[in-house]
Amino acid sequence: MQRVALLTSGGDAPGMNACIRAVVRKAVYHGLEVIGIKRGFNGFIEADMEPMNLSSVADIVQRGGTILRTARSDQFLTPEGRAKAYENTKRFGIQGLIVIGGDGSFRGARSFYLEHNLPVVGVPATIDNDIPGTNQTIGFDTAVNTAIEAINKIRDTATSHERAFIIEVMGRHSGFIALAAGLAGGAESILIPERPFSYDEICEKLLRGFRRGKLHSIIVVAEGASGGLEVGRKIKESTGIDTKVTILGHLQRGGSPSAADRILASRLGARAVELLMNGATKMMVGVSKGEIAAVNLDDALTQAKTIDVEMYHLANILSL
Ligand code: ATP
Repeated sequence: MQRVALLTSGGDAPGMNACIRAVVRKAVYHGLEVIGIKRGFNGFIEADMEPMNLSSVADIVQRGGTILRTARSDQFLTPEGRAKAYENTKRFGIQGLIVIGGDGSFRGARSFYLEHNLPVVGVPATIDNDIPGTNQTIGFDTAVNTAIEAINKIRDTATSHERAFIIEVMGRHSGFIALAAGLAGGAESILIPERPFSYDEICEKLLRGFRRGKLHSIIVVAEGASGGLEVGRKIKESTGIDTKVTILGHLQRGGSPSAADRILASRLGARAVELLMNGATKMMVGVSKGEIAAVNLDDALTQAKTIDVEMYHLANILSL
């Protein structure tokens, strides 16, 4: 293998830049040439790409977002769009592709390999942490830290009044951010799509806490479980307690990546290059039990990722 390409696709996540840096530098270290594809699969189809070298990735390890930019591409969903992208791999002499993104991006990469036989390696990067085949995705740790920082600030103001604060966090259909931020932020209740919840129980716990003299009550809601505003309204209706709702939204996507995300991104990016050099065809890199691991994309895309139920119960116990 002489020339590899890389792109970032789907939603951006803090740490994508650290991963781009690792891919480029690791490839250059091994004497490979690197092509950076801009705007995800759109740039792949439209030949929006250029060679990258050591200095293309200088001073980006600490930056959020992605210097290659990212996109969602309707064209790449079609065989015709992917065939156009394949023409560009021939034109630019690309022999392997690294896709940094979420599971949708990996589905695209897998279809591309199956149709055109060009090796692909996926690197999981999404704040939602909803990709099977890896315990953690790039961006998750930073997003959780951002959510905790917000919870800390809300706690300060919450102590001054008898109010319940509802904080809606991202995560799409999963509750990984909510569970981690709720546990680390000491929330009274954590609402996630993976577990049923009862408003009666939430309200009862809230009232019990206030009766005991608790100064604040914080409820973390995953966007996939319910809307924060609705939770606030229902709690107020049932308890009469004043509720204040904060929707963290895209704040969680931004910011300088945490040390953990930079390290993860560096390790995963470097391993992706190694896999391509060693003849991988359609793989994904991930982390399992603290070790960097490689998983076949077929397996990764058919597995379901479950939340840590023990951690969920622990959060409940600690917030009695
Ligand atoms: P995030 O988790 O941040 O949303 P993602 O990679 O899952 O990231 P998607 O929008 O699902 O984001 O996918 C990114 C792009 O991957 C899509 O815009 C599309 O071009 C391509 N893609 C997704 N699913 C498929 C598929 N089944 N076949 C081919 N291409 C796909």
